[in-house]
Amino acid sequence: MSYETVIGLEVHLQLATKTKAFCGCSTKFGARANSQVCPVCLGFPGSLPVLNEEAFRFAIKVALALNCKIQSLIKFDRKNYYYPDLPKNFQISQYDMPLSYDGFIDIAAKKIRIKRVHMEEDAGKLMHPEGESYSLVDYNRGGMPLLEIVTEPDLNSPQEAYDYLTKLKSILEYLRVSDCDMEKGSLRCDANISIRPQGETKLGTKVELKNMNSFRGVRSALEYEEKRQASVLDEKGKLIQETRLWDTGRCVTASMRVKEEAEDYRYFPEPDLVPFVVDRNQIEEVRSALPELPEARSLRFKEKLGLSDYDAGVLTGQVDVADYFEECLKLYPNAKVAANWIMGDVMAAVNTRNINIRELALTPIALVGLLKMIDSGAINGKMAKDVLIEAIETKASPDEIVRKKGLSQISDSSQIEEAVKKVLQKEIKSVDDYKAGKKAALGFLVGQVMKETKGKANPAMVNATLKKILGE
Ligand SMILES: [Zn+2]
Repeated sequence: MSYETVIGLEVHLQLATKTKAFCGCSTKFGARANSQVCPVCLGFPGSLPVLNEEAFRFAIKVALALNCKIQSLIKFDRKNYYYPDLPKNFQISQYDMPLSYDGFIDIAAKKIRIKRVHMEEDAGKLMHPEGESYSLVDYNRGGMPLLEIVTEPDLNSPQEAYDYLTKLKSILEYLRVSDCDMEKGSLRCDANISIRPQGETKLGTKVELKNMNSFRGVRSALEYEEKRQASVLDEKGKLIQETRLWDTGRCVTASMRVKEEAEDYRYFPEPDLVPFVVDRNQIEEVRSALPELPEARSLRFKEKLGLSDYDAGVLTGQVDVADYFEECLKLYPNAKVAANWIMGDVMAAVNTRNINIRELALTPIALVGLLKMIDSGAINGKMAKDVLIEAIETKASPDEIVRKKGLSQISDSSQIEEAVKKVLQKEIKSVDDYKAGKKAALGFLVGQVMKETKGKANPAMVNATLKKILGE
């Protein structure tokens, strides 16, 4: 039987504020365990939470960028459950009156509706030392400001889920409200997936997937689950509503708990944070300060710079790459050339090193310097590629490298003529081939002259000189 897949995603985003959601504790990553805690985030009796203004502003920023409506009256609730990483036995969250609702993100001609974006605080972190009979808990993460971004079940394939997450992350990075680092846990994703026979309108039994720590992991887990559920139904089995964990090593999902009993939370209003009306002026203030988002930037690159759909999409996917590109353009007018170098050699270097383009030892100024050397004929394209790699590895400027290595391109016509003649004397067969009408032989001869000059000759001049001499 053929099935339709229905997926909904929940993303937890840690906001990059200086202090926690409801107290003044530092949010700095990597500090000694339990060194960033106070009576408020540990929930001592008598302590009172106070909403972090910056977190609230960040939350509005995200809600607006995701096209959400903002609730006029905001309320916080206590989500009650007992777990050792939660010293208060409840988590401050938002239940029936979330900050915002009813937004959307466009992915490849499809609208993915966003059900709600609400604020909450994080729990602490449990650690289970290997081989020991005890666990440790670090409350530094307790009380960190989080946003929960929940989609409607609008995604119909693992690839769509991947595309949605990529787009969401891109927007969040543009807003600069979080480092969006999945490895540090700043961005976490849970997925709900069910399948149903093609044409059926009722939703199938849903399974919640957790423990995925990359977008690829999310996609793989969903692909696995899609197949698993289909084979259960094909064999006339029954799916159960449960939470399953993605096992990265074995590439399978495994049951963690059956849903009904485990997650029956009790919510009630947080009495220590009064409901409040959001100031419309504040919303407008945040809205007017929103940065240009990836879609708008991509459109501008296409319209103003004449870049293709593909190029504009790649260059605006990450805010730092887009900024890098625009910094180059301030010093260098040829957008297409700069775009090609950034998308090609520069991004290749960034990706193999698994770093951010900002960490690359090749500034926009240095890259532009290289491009100008190509344009002036000082070096050729092939040499430029080598210089680029060396500049990245040694942190020296391209200019310096070319000078030190005497790499300058040979544009002296007599020198080139000399090399051409030398090659022609050696490669008699190719010369005959060329004269007999085999035009491809010319390419071989150009290659030989480049080799003869150790790649330094100006290729256009070599070409012209060869044609001139062979034509005689
Ligand atoms: Zn605290």
